[in-house]
Amino acid sequence: MSLPRESTAAVLVAYNKPLEMQSLPVPELEPRGILVKVEASTMCGTDVHIWRGSYADTGMSKLPLVLGHEIVGRVVALGRDRKVDALNRPLAEGDRVAWSYAWCGQCYWCTTAKQPTQCENARMYGWGPADKSPYLTGGYSEYAYIMPECSVVKAPAHVDAAVLASATCAFRTVFHGYEKIGKIETTDTVVIQGSGPVGLYALAYAIKSGACRTIMIGAPAARLDIAKRWGAEIVLDVLNTDPSERKQQILDATDGRGADLVVECSGVNPAFVEGMNLIRRGGRYLVLGASDPRPAEIHPTYFNLRQLTVAGTMSGDISHYYRALSFLEAHENEFSFGDLLSSRYRLDEVDAALAGMEGMTEIKPVILPSLPTS
Ligand SMILES: [Zn+2]
Ligand SMILES: [Zn+2]
Repeated sequence: MSLPRESTAAVLVAYNKPLEMQSLPVPELEPRGILVKVEASTMCGTDVHIWRGSYADTGMSKLPLVLGHEIVGRVVALGRDRKVDALNRPLAEGDRVAWSYAWCGQCYWCTTAKQPTQCENARMYGWGPADKSPYLTGGYSEYAYIMPECSVVKAPAHVDAAVLASATCAFRTVFHGYEKIGKIETTDTVVIQGSGPVGLYALAYAIKSGACRTIMIGAPAARLDIAKRWGAEIVLDVLNTDPSERKQQILDATDGRGADLVVECSGVNPAFVEGMNLIRRGGRYLVLGASDPRPAEIHPTYFNLRQLTVAGTMSGDISHYYRALSFLEAHENEFSFGDLLSSRYRLDEVDAALAGMEGMTEIKPVILPSLPTS
């Protein structure tokens, strides 16, 4: 079997600059490595932050790099020791797969805390560097390399690859979060803050988990329309309501108690304090989106006097990928998941996709590396 030697990729060589189309080497296939042809990648807000250099000082992003960590691909070649996926299902060339980040499986976080998303040796997709083997660690590339430590799951064959790709960051994060915060009761009112992909996926999960009422806070109107169509009972537009109006609406809907569970998916700082004020006594707060570096002011007695439970998670392990992909397959006729996706771009158009994502004219751009470039 002869493998391709090179992969065309959109490479970030300098922050805030247009990406460069380059040919990167295809690495030698390790015994548990997998080479995949990228079927679809979707853009995450984090890609824009990486492109802007927001993580350059922390050393997390390493230039040059191939962006993109929401990826679905088809197996081109399997290393000799990689025979099954994480559910022990046989893997073969041509299978559509998704995969977790590479966690070492050796450190305290992997073995004892059983929180591999905190792994001290994690290697993540979309962060670089693309000038060192295995080079192909980003989705905006013709081929991607699945590292030996990555767990892999087969992805549903007949769901749109771009929809599946969007689950591999946004939705798996939602599954991880709900697992940590615990069961949704059939009497629960769940408030979701943020109507981006994470928030909309969190809404779909809450609805299918049997929440008696879901309320979405967000903007712009087109995203709130999706929430309504999916089954949110109340949608509150942050562009034409203020926090006190929103709180009153939620109190009115809950006999004056407040929400049983609030899920923060907005990422912006003021949402945290607002969310804390929307929870009933003894209620729960799940923080998924917070990425704003500004601190929030909150009085610690609020936690004990009101007996609140607050939890946060990031990313997800392979179980969350599997469950997110399975949810999409099971419920694709109930929720128009494709509405989360916006324009489709070629590899040489990633700059336009980044600009659209940053300018919020796009919910989630799709990159299709198989489309011929000009
Ligand atoms: Zn992401
Ligand atoms: Zn580890």
